[in-house]
Amino acid sequence: TTRITKFDQRSDEFGSLARSFNQMAEQLENNITAHQRLLGDVSHELRSPLTRLQLAVALAEKNIGNDIEQQKHLNRCETEVERLDEMIADVLTLSRLEHNQTVFAADNTDLSALVTKVVNDCQYFATSKAVTIRLKAQENCVLLADSKLLSSAISNVVNNAVKYSPHDKVVSVELTQQNEQLMLSVSDQGSGVPNEMIAKLFTPFFRVADARDRSSGGTGLGLAIAQQAILFHQGEIIAQNQESSGLKVIITLPTLSKKNKSHT
Ligand code: ADP
Repeated sequence: TTRITKFDQRSDEFGSLARSFNQMAEQLENNITAHQRLLGDVSHELRSPLTRLQLAVALAEKNIGNDIEQQKHLNRCETEVERLDEMIADVLTLSRLEHNQTVFAADNTDLSALVTKVVNDCQYFATSKAVTIRLKAQENCVLLADSKLLSSAISNVVNNAVKYSPHDKVVSVELTQQNEQLMLSVSDQGSGVPNEMIAKLFTPFFRVADARDRSSGGTGLGLAIAQQAILFHQGEIIAQNQESSGLKVIITLPTLSKKNKSHT
């Protein structure tokens, strides 16, 4: 939140207005922090019962025999439990990132190799949808990074491009380096995102079309986590609609990124 410091020492109307505004800003900030902490705590607490539930479902599956109807119900249980597990893990990851509670590794990371691996890992999913991923990566794009964190952020963006891509279309992934700036773009030929919603894409749980996007899996937290991960590397992530069609997500990262956040 932004504070007004220019007027808040004054004893006139501007001063009193500035002080009220600052109080409101402080309250808002406290509320947001409390809200984020609660989310983190709740997710943490949900972990143990969920693990027990997973065990119980696995046990029941072992003992169910050949009752197809019951097997169907149990499979459904299993899918939903997995989904819950994924959501809780994502909420925890986001909460930890937002509170600097993650221990970050910072190693010399070959982004060219990392992006190639992410694309390879996504190939199976792409093939299943008849989507072609075209990769053009400049070699030796090296930066200081937490490779696991960066990899999951990039993986989310590439997976989204495939997920929201119609059949028989192309997803283009391009990595280039200019001086000390690395640029990764991921473009698809899908329907893009309504312009007024572009700014909200990185908000936790935001989805363009709730029912459609929910049914295609995912938690609605992927891009929020990706943004936090990129910000940690002092980079930037933006999304824009392309003139032709589809969404283009651009990630820029400085090569000389240093660990400069407080860690616990
Ligand atoms: P999800 O798990 O729902 O994919 P994300 O945080 O990764 O969550 O993305 C948030 C929302 O942004 C998605 O639900 C979808 O509506 C929209 N979105 C993300 N990537 C694309 C894309 N390439 N094309 C169209 N919409 C997208």
